[in-house]
This record gives sequence, C-alpha cells and structure tokens, in this order.
Amino acid sequence: MDIITEHEKGAGARTLDGARAAAELRREVAAEAARLWREHNVVPRLVTILVGEDPASVVYVRNKVRTCEEVGLTSEHHPLPAGTTAGELLELVASCNARADVDGVLVQLPLPAGHDEARVIEAIDPAKDVDGFHPFNVGRLFSQQPALVPCTPAGIVELLEREGVEVSGARACVVGRSNIVGRPVAELLLQRDATVTVCHSRTRDLAAVTREADILVAAVGRAGFVRGAHVKPGAVVVDVGINRVTDEARVRELFGDAAPRRLDSLRARGYTIVGDVHPAEVGRVAGRLTPVPGGVGPLTVALLMKNTVAAARRRRGI
Ligand code: NAP
Repeated sequence: MDIITEHEKGAGARTLDGARAAAELRREVAAEAARLWREHNVVPRLVTILVGEDPASVVYVRNKVRTCEEVGLTSEHHPLPAGTTAGELLELVASCNARADVDGVLVQLPLPAGHDEARVIEAIDPAKDVDGFHPFNVGRLFSQQPALVPCTPAGIVELLEREGVEVSGARACVVGRSNIVGRPVAELLLQRDATVTVCHSRTRDLAAVTREADILVAAVGRAGFVRGAHVKPGAVVVDVGINRVTDEARVRELFGDAAPRRLDSLRARGYTIVGDVHPAEVGRVAGRLTPVPGGVGPLTVALLMKNTVAAARRRRGI
C-alpha cells in the first residue's frame, strides 16, 4: 500500500481531508437541488428542532441551517425551550410529518433529561427521517435495502471513497458500538467488503485488536483515547470524536509541536476541540488521519444535505 511506503519514509500521517471531500459533496448536492428546482419546481425543506440550549447542539444546528442556505435547500428551525414537554415535542413532529412541504425532520440529540429519545425518533415519519435513526431505516440498512443512512457513518465511508482508501478486503476496526456511529459504520464497512471488528468498553486487550486494523475508526467520546500503541504503522485512522478540552497542560500533551495554535484557541474561547485520537502520537504512527475539526464533522453535515435531497426525491417519486 502506498500509504505505508510514505509512512516508512518518515513522512508522518497524511491528512484525510474531510473539509475538501465535504465541499465537493456540497457542490454535488447544490447541483442536484438546482436540477430539482429547474425540472420539478421543488426546493427540499429541512425542519430542525432543538430543545433547550446545549451550547454544542446550538453550534451543530446553526451549521446545518447555514449549510442548507449554501446548497440551496430551505430550512426551518424550531428552537424550543428546555422545559418543552414530551407531548409538545411529539405534536410538533406530528405536524411536520403531516406537512407535504417538509422533506426532512431532524430532532437534535441529545434531548434534555426526561425525554424519551427512542419514542421521539420513532415518531418521525421514516420517509422524512434524514438522520436515519428510525428503526425502519436502521432495519433496512442492516438488511441491505435502500435507506436513509445515519449521516456520520455515511460521511465516513464517503470520505474513505473520495480519498481513495481501499476498503474491500481491508481489516477494519471500529472502537465504539453506539447506534449513531459505531454500529452503522461497522455495517457500512462490512457492506463494502471490509473484515470488520467492533470494540467497546468490555473488549480485552484493546490495543492488540486495534493494532490489527488497516482502517481504524475511533468513536469513543473520550479526548485523545486512541494512542500510538493502538495503531498499526501506516493505518488509515478516522477520528470521529468531538470533545472539548479546557486544560492547557492537556492541550500541550495532546498536540506537541502544534500546541501553540491550539492554546490560542483555548485562551480565546475557553476550550479547544479534540477528537478521540491522540493527535501527536497517532500522527507519528498512522499513514493517514482525519483532523479534528475538519475531518468527519463537515461530512456529517454534507450527508444531511444529501439525505434531505434524497428524501425529497423519494417522497415525490422524482
Ligand atoms: P457513545 O454513544 O457514548 O458511545 C461510545 C462508545 O465507546 C461505546 O460503545 C463505549 O462502549 C465505547 N467506549 C467507551 N469507553 C471505552 C473504552 N475504554 N474502551 C473501548 N470502548 C469504549 O458515543 P457516540 O455517540 O458513538 O459518539 C462517539 C464520539 O463521536 C463522541 O466524541 C461524539 O461527540 C462524536 N460524534 C461526532 C460526530 C461528528 O459529526 N463528527 C457525530 C456523532 C458523534 P460501551 O458500549 O461498552 O459502553
């Protein structure tokens, strides 16, 4: 594999450029949206619903709304107070299901404590479930039927394909088994003929398992969790994590030579974003590595746009 050769030359990990792949995908979605308008007078509409004001969720939703504008989709945002009852939320979802002009319904997770997320997800019309979390779409994905696929896992395989990473026949290891990331990305890699291992908090000798992987996906939710010793030299490493780190010493330890820029952001905002991979250590061992931010995140949003256009087409039979 050429990535290993480059690594052996001591080049360090090359970037798996999520920002570039996402920009390319957004351009394709924009062209498709323009075609839907030209040929069918249709502008796909995404409804976003945010309960409460969790700071990270506010940023994510703002990004989604802004990206809709960029690619020519209509968005409609419903910010609801933290005290919104389950009944009120379900009523809003039902009204979006009933509206012919709504193509996608996204309820930003996590919901505040006290809400039953599974019940809310199941309340969304599967045809408008652009997050791909409804059991109908999950069932279709796992039985290899066309489905609305969760955006982050779909974004990861899109990134690997666009960056020319050979998935077929590769040994892939996913650390994390959540419904949102770990399980669906393992399924998508399996569908692309990787030999897939899924690890979790009960996995024995994790590093021995992850070191077997040509493609390692980290979706753990712990800053810098995957260390150099977890990675096979030359492997492709996809860092899904989004964690806020607020401690200067920790930033220095995680970023090494790149720490000064991160410390500037820490001082300006009070935190810096770190993935689930230790960037300095893994950057020395991996062949390719997604940056955080600028890796999986932008693709997640681009895939949401793609899903919204796909939902609009399928619902209308166009
Ligand atoms: P999650 O639901 O908390 O799942 C974390 C997984 O990591 C669990 O399966 C857990 O195992 C496993 N884990 C925890 N500690 C471990 C350990 N010591 N060894 C091995 N496995 C361990 O998280 P998630 O929703 O999948 O999200 C994962 C990360 O991705 C988070 O940082 C999140 O912010 C980020 N994320 C990013 C995007 C994006 O657009 N880039 C989208 C979604 C999520 P158990 O099942 O055994 O508990």
